[in-house]
Amino acid sequence: MPLDFTFSEEQQLFRKNVKEFLKREIEPGVDHINRTEEWPEEELKKIASQGYMGVPFPKKYGGMGYGEVEYDILMEELGKIDISFTTTVGAHCGLACQSVYMFGNEEQREKYLKPLARGEKLGAFGLTEPEAGSDAAALKTSAVKKGNHYVLNGSKQFISNGDMADVVIVFATSDPSLGHRGISAFIVEKGTPGFSPGKLEDKMGIRASHTAELFFEDCEIPEENLLGQEGRGYPVALTILDGGRASLSAGPLGSAERAFELVVDHVRKSVPPEKLMEREGLIFELSDLATQIKAARYFCYHVGASIGEYIEMVANHQEITKELRETISRNAAMAKTFITEVSSHVIDGCIQIIGEESYRELSYLGKSFNDSFIGEIYEGTNDINRLVVGMDIVKRGIEDEWRLR
Ligand SMILES: Cc1cc2nc3c(=O)[nH]c(=O)nc-3n(C[C@H](O)[C@H](O)[C@H](O)COP(=O)(O)OP(=O)(O)OC[C@H]3O[C@@H](n4cnc5c(N)ncnc54)[C@H](O)[C@@H]3O)c2cc1C
Repeated sequence: MPLDFTFSEEQQLFRKNVKEFLKREIEPGVDHINRTEEWPEEELKKIASQGYMGVPFPKKYGGMGYGEVEYDILMEELGKIDISFTTTVGAHCGLACQSVYMFGNEEQREKYLKPLARGEKLGAFGLTEPEAGSDAAALKTSAVKKGNHYVLNGSKQFISNGDMADVVIVFATSDPSLGHRGISAFIVEKGTPGFSPGKLEDKMGIRASHTAELFFEDCEIPEENLLGQEGRGYPVALTILDGGRASLSAGPLGSAERAFELVVDHVRKSVPPEKLMEREGLIFELSDLATQIKAARYFCYHVGASIGEYIEMVANHQEITKELRETISRNAAMAKTFITEVSSHVIDGCIQIIGEESYRELSYLGKSFNDSFIGEIYEGTNDINRLVVGMDIVKRGIEDEWRLR
């Protein structure tokens, strides 16, 4: 990617349209949705009507024909409205659709990606299990081949969109003793006998996003719904999570930006200009928070742009060197950790500056405090991402890091 980080005119127009649409059509309903925890059916339909459920996919697969940078723009703007929506759209677009786009064959893209990207159907991504969170390779859901189908047994937990999704990407193992080499990925349709969602999680934040258990009991999946090769599901999961790490952190980034705008507005109104020099601590804090947001934003789009290129290479079956794969993983993990922690820090700082007003129920700041923190947990906790980065740096050295790839 060139060092000029400016957005193209088309990207700026895309952002303007997204921003105006979200402000006009989605923001007015957000308080109600968070209060009642109703599934935002109408809002999601409106989002789909704009094509936003398939921003980064080619038009021939039902998408808008944009790339990862535009998808990050959507996520950043959604984060300024409500992180529940970045979670719902992220699980659908960045995880489920992306799995079919990057690893599906033409029949699967035609049958599943098209309606998903058009927003006619909703997707979810089922990797996590009660005994397999950070260590996804320890998953126990089994997939036994019988004739021309696989029989799935087991359960998943904490699956975003799990109860509402029409299509779930499910990871299961043919033999737990094989570790990650036994894992395959499957496309599972809602209504398949033996597949049922369980209870919804009662969460501290993102309350307008549904997070569900999934159960599989002798659930027969046709062999044509195997995604990629048998026993190669773990690389599918890791590759998808690399992409998801960068794009999902654009949500908390947007949240931090909105929080900071509120604080600047508050300071302008509450501190007379002639008194500003007496508030050195406040001025320093504003300077630090603004600097951190700016650094996070550069990082987000820099990594987003290179992940966009990488996604296209995988989807078009181009050769991926081990070095490129490891660099993408390292950068995605770095960006996710940095951006989400900046976001939590900025929101905390903004609450300290504004004080009691931010403690009102459903004030944007109070809600963001609970919502945005999720960025530090899903897509691999930040400590797991630190492991990815630190281990890779020790293994491959740091020289590559300064090349700004
Ligand atoms: C709201 C929400 C939505 C989610 N949506 C989805 C979804 O759509 N699909 C999906 O598959 N999953 C989803 N998840 C699950 C999420 O990805 C997992 O919670 C996450 O991977 C962490 O797993 P865990 O919670 O089991 O933590 P654990 O693995 O139990 O880890 C607990 C702590 O130990 C640390 N730790 C664990 N192992 C190590 C290690 N080897 N070295 C150092 N530290 C370690 C972790 O960093 C963490 O701090 C969601 C979770 C939430 C909360």
